[in-house]
This record gives sequence, C-alpha cells and structure tokens, in this order.
Amino acid sequence: MSDLDAIPALHRDDIESVLISSDRIEAKIAELGARMSQDYTGRDILLVAVLKGAFLVMADLARHLEVGCSVDFMAVSSYGAATSSSGVVRILKDLDTDIEGKHVVIVEDIVDSGLTLDYLVKNLRSRKPASLELMALLTKPSRREVDLPVKYVGFEIPDVFVVGYGLDYDERYRNLPCIATLKPEVYGAA
Ligand code: 5GP
Repeated sequence: MSDLDAIPALHRDDIESVLISSDRIEAKIAELGARMSQDYTGRDILLVAVLKGAFLVMADLARHLEVGCSVDFMAVSSYGAATSSSGVVRILKDLDTDIEGKHVVIVEDIVDSGLTLDYLVKNLRSRKPASLELMALLTKPSRREVDLPVKYVGFEIPDVFVVGYGLDYDERYRNLPCIATLKPEVYGAA
C-alpha cells in the first residue's frame, strides 16, 4: 500500500506529499515509549496532552508505556495568525489534577516557535511537580524562538505547514494516519 493509499479517500486529493508515513510514526512512538519506560522505571508518570493536536500521540504513547501512567489534558489557544503562533497563550481548559510531587511529561504534537510550550512549562513548573519533561512528535528547529529542552523528540521537520496524526488545518485532517503537506489551493478554499 502506498502512503497516499493510507489516507482516507475524502482527503487524498488535498494532499501534496506525505512527509512521514504511519509506519514510521508507529515505530517512533514505540521507541519513545520504550525509552520513557526505562527512564521512569519504578515511578508513575502523569502524561499531560496539549489539546487538540496531541490526542493521537498521547493515545499511542500511553499504550507503549510499561510504567504506571495517568493522563490529563490542557487546551490552550494562541492569539494571532492562523498558521503561526503569536506567543500569547490563553488556557482554555486547565488540568483536572493537582500535579504537585508528580512526574509530569507534557505531550505535544509539534514544537514550532516553542512559545506555547515555553509558557506551559513555566506555568506547570510553578505548580511544583517532582519532575517535568517534554515530548513532541515533531519539531521545527529552524523556527525556534526560545531555548526549550525537549527530551523526547519524534522527528525534526523543515519549516513547512503539516497536517495529520492530530494536526489540523481549519479543524480538518486530524484523522490522517500520516504527516502530510497540503496542496496550496486547499488553503484558498477554507
Ligand atoms: P509554537 O508555540 O511552538 O510556535 O506553536 C505550537 C502550536 O502551533 C502547535 O501546537 C500547533 O497547534 C501549531 N502549529 C505549529 N506548526 C504547525 C504545523 O505545521 N501544522 C499545524 N497543523 N499546526 C502547527
């Protein structure tokens, strides 16, 4: 089956290219899950997914953990242009859990400028977790504006706008099993 065949027919014509296939994503998340399980041996992890984009990463990562794990979710929104982050972050949904004394791993879909995660790290650190680490499926190093130590990184990608595996454009394409770019004309149609 080609990478494009794995994409639901409804969206196939909108795709310019498949950057990372679902097989590669699966293998990478399994690898990160194994690493994390080793690193946290004997300790429980609280995974904090940043909604909405990280919902699939979180679900797949959790299934590869061999240590105790609980999950919680935050939703944030940044003001500004549709396809870039302004760095002003608003919490739309806060955690349900008190994280004091817990080993927290923030799970992100993609780190672009890094401003969203930088804000979240500062915010969560003030709540006194026992430890706080970051995991991101994707990172765009050339776009980074803040120095952010992301311990668990899936893939480094160039400065292109991607969709799929949780990532949207105009709330669509989150259900693609791979990471892909869209044809330019799709942006005009939204
Ligand atoms: P940052 O604060 O690191 O600049 O932005 C992070 C957020 O911007 C991500 O969580 C995601 O919502 C959005 N974002 C950044 N790059 C992309 C991209 O290539 N595709 C999509 N769909 N969202 C992106």
